[in-house]
Amino acid sequence: MRFLCVLCVLCGLSFLTFALDREAFTITKYDLEVRLEPEQQRLGARGKITLRNDSAKPQKVVALQISSSLNWRAIRVDGKAVQFVSQPYVSDIDHTGALSEGVVTLPAEIKPKDLVEVEIGYEGIVGLDATRLTRIGVPEELAKHTSWDQISPSFTAVRGAGYVAWYPITTESADFSEGNSLFEVGDRWKAREAGSEFKARITMSRGSNDRAPLMICSPGGDAMIEEISRAQLVTAECSWPRLGTVTPTFVMASYQDKSKPPFYLFSLSGHEAGAAKYTAAFEPASKFLTEWFGKPSAPVAIADLADPHAAPFESGTLLLASMAAEDSKLAGINLVHELVHSAVWSPRPWVYEGLAHFAEAVYREEQGGREAALDLLGIHRATFLDAEKDVAANSTKNPGQPLTTTFDEVYFRSKAAYVWWMLRDMVGDDALKSAIGKYRSADDKDPKYVEQLVGAAGKRDLGWFFDDWVYHDRGLPDFRVQSVHPWKTEKQVQMITVTLENVGTAGAEVPFTIRCEGGDVTRRLEVRAKRTATTRVDLPGTPIEIVINDGSVPESDVTNNTFKVPAP
Ligand SMILES: [Zn+2]
Repeated sequence: MRFLCVLCVLCGLSFLTFALDREAFTITKYDLEVRLEPEQQRLGARGKITLRNDSAKPQKVVALQISSSLNWRAIRVDGKAVQFVSQPYVSDIDHTGALSEGVVTLPAEIKPKDLVEVEIGYEGIVGLDATRLTRIGVPEELAKHTSWDQISPSFTAVRGAGYVAWYPITTESADFSEGNSLFEVGDRWKAREAGSEFKARITMSRGSNDRAPLMICSPGGDAMIEEISRAQLVTAECSWPRLGTVTPTFVMASYQDKSKPPFYLFSLSGHEAGAAKYTAAFEPASKFLTEWFGKPSAPVAIADLADPHAAPFESGTLLLASMAAEDSKLAGINLVHELVHSAVWSPRPWVYEGLAHFAEAVYREEQGGREAALDLLGIHRATFLDAEKDVAANSTKNPGQPLTTTFDEVYFRSKAAYVWWMLRDMVGDDALKSAIGKYRSADDKDPKYVEQLVGAAGKRDLGWFFDDWVYHDRGLPDFRVQSVHPWKTEKQVQMITVTLENVGTAGAEVPFTIRCEGGDVTRRLEVRAKRTATTRVDLPGTPIEIVINDGSVPESDVTNNTFKVPAP
């Protein structure tokens, strides 16, 4: 009998484990009050969240997750405390490598698409923690420059889901060591939350003797310092009507405020020279922005990080980057990126982030020429070529990511930057500027909207290009010279007929340069996937060699891009 009971309990437990669909619910709305106590590294939160059942089945159990260094204090539905089991859940989506999971039994089943409002309370500490990196072998010193989130009396910076679950999330376990698991879980979470409304009021109170620190969450949000009797109340409002790609993040430090709204600049003492580079970059960057993307419509903020080697991080129009380095090139590029975000908002990450990365390259070109711009784009190439290689190797197992729907950074940042650059090379600056000027996020419903805008402005059919690069993930082109035929006209003008072949799986318009005695000639040719294209070029002298692609078109193999023209 006793054996049977144990069996029942075991069966019951395993039933619970199997029946728990951790991603059934999406949190569609957050309304939180967060209190910080930096001396103790403490965070306490209470508020309401709204959950929507996005699964196909009615659900009675929901797993709410927060960082493992925080603990659930209360969970209530309809004003009544509900039953919940608190358990640790291993997942690399949080910097501690684990989550505190509150497995809640709801008073009634929630039907698919129905909503339930849950009142929550939780608290704990947020300290520097690089466990998820050190346990896969990243040296601690290095890991700290990546995993820099913490609440502390001297410097507080805490990023949201993917770094620190300081607000509840609902995810399957993510694992750093399992290939793309962490990124897949994180991307899926972002995609599910893209339309969610987020509101958090973060406060900290302390004695009024010291200089109060500044707290920043969303740029231009009401960061306030109030004097209340002998205490100071430092407040920041973090609110977004829809999150998009934003990761709710807050920072607090004794910043020097160098803001000139709508450009907010917060630097730390000792980093004055680095901060001055940003101030100096503002005017040229704004001029560039207006020419290409229109006027900024939202404030942007750049805030300093205490660790000079900290990896920079951006969330919407807030950039966290150390100003220890005095690098004017970097300051200009960073500023342009954030300004583009403030001028063009899109629900599609490949438009929102892709345009910002593309703009960095165009700005670099204005200051240092095309080669400098292509070098900057080149930083993106390696990561995304790797992703495409994987797609090419197992397209059935990994069909890749269409740009229109992806929440994978490698695609919506790196690949998208190249796609915008190729579009610009194909239709020209004026046409692309006009298309961007006409872009309205509210009208971006049909996946073909961007193609129609750019195609109409450039008076060109771009369906084939969008098919290969945007609507599907068809991999990459691979160009080579198939044949050449040098010849002379009756008037002794040197000509050459060139046939290029694209043995890759995506089409593109590619530049090629014919090096001749007497100068070089560069032309462009549209070569679809698995096809050839032929053109005739007149030359200043005898052709010597042909070099395809200046780096502006990402290619799977560039070892076959140079061709020696045989002597006549
Ligand atoms: Zn960005």
